[in-house]
Amino acid sequence: MAKMTVKDLDVAGKKVLVRCDFNVPRKDGKITDDNRIVMALPTIKYLIENNAKIVLFSHLGKVKTEEDKAKNNLECVAVRLQELLPETKVSFCPVTRGPELEEMVANLNEGEIVLVQNTRYEKGESKNDEELGKYWASLGDVFVEDAFGSVHRAHASTVGIPSNIKENGLGFLVEKEVTMLGKAVDEPAHPFVAIIGGSKVSSKIDVVDNLLKKADKVIIGGGMAYTFSKAMGGKIGSSLVEDDKLELAKEYLEKAGDKLVLPVDTVIADKFAEDANVDVADMDNIPDGWLGLDIGPKSVELFKETLKGAKTVVWNGPMGVFEMPAFAKGTEEVCKAISELEDAITVIGGGDSAAAAKQLGYADKFSHVSTGGGASLEYMEGKVLPGIAIINEK
Ligand code: AMP
Repeated sequence: MAKMTVKDLDVAGKKVLVRCDFNVPRKDGKITDDNRIVMALPTIKYLIENNAKIVLFSHLGKVKTEEDKAKNNLECVAVRLQELLPETKVSFCPVTRGPELEEMVANLNEGEIVLVQNTRYEKGESKNDEELGKYWASLGDVFVEDAFGSVHRAHASTVGIPSNIKENGLGFLVEKEVTMLGKAVDEPAHPFVAIIGGSKVSSKIDVVDNLLKKADKVIIGGGMAYTFSKAMGGKIGSSLVEDDKLELAKEYLEKAGDKLVLPVDTVIADKFAEDANVDVADMDNIPDGWLGLDIGPKSVELFKETLKGAKTVVWNGPMGVFEMPAFAKGTEEVCKAISELEDAITVIGGGDSAAAAKQLGYADKFSHVSTGGGASLEYMEGKVLPGIAIINEK
């Protein structure tokens, strides 16, 4: 069943509480990338056009101490939002509860916005404190969930508020994420190929496990591939390895058979540095003292061959240390090969692979680049996302 969305809700003249993800990167108090604010605009503009009284909530950074509060004041987002919406009155409420907030919300006119201070100023936010969720919910008539980056967390602003507001639905950003990730992971067109990279087996094994149930092939690259190689008896030199995951890797190799596709060669370096001496070795024969930092040319060809004709591709995690140009080629080639597939649904599951695709200039060639690293990873693991589960079905 599909979830209610903002379009199914009666918002005219109503106080609409929206959980956004305005957790933007900053340097010296200045926003360095406003993408998350821009991504929230479709829902906000829809609410303005439909005469809602809009109350926005978001967290920003981690807040443990008074110093963190000063560092993570959400006012900078209100300033940017006002610049992006010059026709709209955007006010900032510097507190998260009390008469000042209540008055600002009560005095809102249709089509106006109040942005509430960083939700994490409240200790109860991360604990989904019942009283806090009820209090925030009491400020509005309708709730819209549009913070994809936070829906995997059961917090007061993501779960507490909608638990206490019957009229609720997804915003456009979360709706698109759920639709695209759902199409790719839950109702994939076959052949379905998943590519999982990144540094650690421990952080990706649940994704591998879930995707092995759904995909026709699961390609493994990046740092985690060396643990699989060592589990098969390979010599991996000083490459990244999790020795406590060797048994687990063996288990997966046995149960998955040729569904798992591993690198056959690797770019090796004599130190973890851009200016290292570089060579190529077979995946199972890395000399002592050398470490694998990217997949090799034969692996690129193997992965490209595996991708040929795929109708669904999900990609999470780089194939090597793509931050250093000397070890970015594998990730670049894989990214290019996915982006060139015809008639395929291609989805990047956030985090580093999204950054890599952007850095390499391929991001707009994918069907969907997820905005939430943690949330899309948990979706791909087959986990329930509490901030979405709580929203009413149509
Ligand atoms: P993850 O957050 O698990 O997706 O991991 C991403 C990180 O894995 C990136 O910072 C990469 O530099 C790193 N990585 C990828 N391949 C390797 C490798 N062969 N050795 C060490 N780190 C790697």
